[in-house]
Amino acid sequence: MASRTRTCEVAIVGGGVMGASIAAHLAERRVGRVVVFEREDELGTGSTSKAAGGVRLQFTTRANVELSRYSIEEIGRFRDRTGVDADFDRCGYLFLLDSEDDLEQFAETAKLQRALGAPVEVISVAEAERRLPGIETGDLVGATFCAADGVATPAALVAGYAALARRGGVELRRGAEVTAAAERPDGGFRFTAGGEAWESEWLVNAAGPWARGVGALFGVEIPVEPVRRQFFTTEPVSFLPESMPLTIDWGTGVYLHRHSGGVLCGAADPDEPPGFSQTPDLDFLGGVWERGAHRYPPLADAALKTLNAGLYAVSPDHNAILGPVPELPRFLVAGGFSGHGMQHAPAVGRALSEVIADGESRTLDITAFAMERFATDQAAPERRVI
Ligand SMILES: Cc1cc2nc3c(=O)[nH]c(=O)nc-3n(C[C@H](O)[C@H](O)[C@H](O)COP(=O)(O)OP(=O)(O)OC[C@H]3O[C@@H](n4cnc5c(N)ncnc54)[C@H](O)[C@@H]3O)c2cc1C
Repeated sequence: MASRTRTCEVAIVGGGVMGASIAAHLAERRVGRVVVFEREDELGTGSTSKAAGGVRLQFTTRANVELSRYSIEEIGRFRDRTGVDADFDRCGYLFLLDSEDDLEQFAETAKLQRALGAPVEVISVAEAERRLPGIETGDLVGATFCAADGVATPAALVAGYAALARRGGVELRRGAEVTAAAERPDGGFRFTAGGEAWESEWLVNAAGPWARGVGALFGVEIPVEPVRRQFFTTEPVSFLPESMPLTIDWGTGVYLHRHSGGVLCGAADPDEPPGFSQTPDLDFLGGVWERGAHRYPPLADAALKTLNAGLYAVSPDHNAILGPVPELPRFLVAGGFSGHGMQHAPAVGRALSEVIADGESRTLDITAFAMERFATDQAAPERRVI
């Protein structure tokens, strides 16, 4: 006997922070049956589980600052909205700069950021040292600081959005890998998930670093590559100030912030080739520790707690890809977030839920993130990717 085909209005492939946010936002709209398909046994175990938690307004494009502005507001009232505390610590982001060229560029983008309502200040080296006492300042020329930035807990965002989605009737299917698919002649979709046959009117590809593979199942080319990114954490330490900004040593790319009473410290390896390895590289992380301790000498005395590696989903211009693909208007992408997807999940959930429910994103202008930009050479790369 042939097995029955299940149907839904919206199928979301991927139960990371993006899938959960989109589901939660759709739960507030009358769009029919919405189902999230996550291949693992739990939500949020992909890239989201590796996110360092940073949330910032200090981006270089208008579109990214606007996604951040919306998201920070939502993360700030997350508990009221979802019942789950996002642990948002508004500790600020401090960018330390060691070249006049960088200082000039940061001062230029600070004008755009301020024009968009982000309270970004260009500050002196002495002021930077006041923000994080103990840093090595000999080679610094200045810094920027934004008090509205901070650190939140990625798992809390997933839990809150999943709760909201569930309350609104969304089904969260775990152990439901989407393995085979086809478009229907009428623009809808057929696919297999967890061994079951499904059909949907809309398909949202929120598969993070695996978005290219999910796209390929539907015959859609998604230009997103997985790239390993790493950090380590230390045991609790006594030297951290009460309020420590998330600090980025822009010259070396090393970032650090308070984490469970210790320090979380990481950096991107610019030579890391695309690939799915999530094994921490001790030599690389040893170098990160050295660079981190050069900038913040107390770090040298901390004791290592964990080594961590996860995947960025990287698009050609380090910007997200949002919205429909040209060939399939009801196949939506929410991918390519590099190192800033966790913090943009609230805005992306809002935008894509509006594309489905209203026919377009009304609250946020997401045209800069359209897939078409790669064909028309309209891409404006994000220059502040960490
Ligand atoms: C080391 C590191 C540090 C980071 N730091 C930050 C930070 O400070 N701030 C920030 O904002 N962002 C940060 N990020 C980026 C952030 O983690 C990601 O942008 C974000 O989590 C992406 O969420 P997602 O839901 O798109 O992807 P994921 O969380 O990866 O979710 C995708 C899901 O899709 C599922 N899936 C894949 N294929 C299938 C299939 N065929 N069928 C069903 N399910 C499938 C996967 O199992 C996975 O759960 C960091 C990332 C890393 C690696």
